[in-house]
Amino acid sequence: MPSDIPLVGIGTDVHAFGEGRPLWLAGLHWPGEMGLAGHSDADVATHALCDALLSAAGLGDLGSVFGTDDPQWAQASGVSMLTHTAALVRESGHLIGNASVQVIGNRPRVGSRREEAQDVLSAALGAPVRVSGTTSDGLGLTGRGEGIAAIAVASLMSAHPTL
Ligand code: MG
Repeated sequence: MPSDIPLVGIGTDVHAFGEGRPLWLAGLHWPGEMGLAGHSDADVATHALCDALLSAAGLGDLGSVFGTDDPQWAQASGVSMLTHTAALVRESGHLIGNASVQVIGNRPRVGSRREEAQDVLSAALGAPVRVSGTTSDGLGLTGRGEGIAAIAVASLMSAHPTL
């Protein structure tokens, strides 16, 4: 296969709400919103983005790169994980084209801070990141208000394409 064909990857993540946790979502702190439970800051948007990037680069997945028993990543911010992932992807010989992440949940409405989130995530990735949001019409774990989910895609190019 010619290596100048764009490489795409997909990632998803879900975290349940957790009492007494701050909400970190799409690289932003959301004061007054219920936080998500998790090993790190539980930012589903950044985690889904990392998985999409790792998949596109053929570098495995979040679990294989950021093991839950690795103390280096305990309480890690999603933004720092995205920065690390971007470095791994580039070190593996890829250029990062762009990425997009959709947050699924009742609240908060990420569109209210879309530009801010896109700026933070794009800076971490070193490439454009788009942020969108949707609900699930009251259905499923996000519709029942039990947590927040995210789906992301990323596109890469080989840094050293052959003919
Ligand atoms: Mg996660």
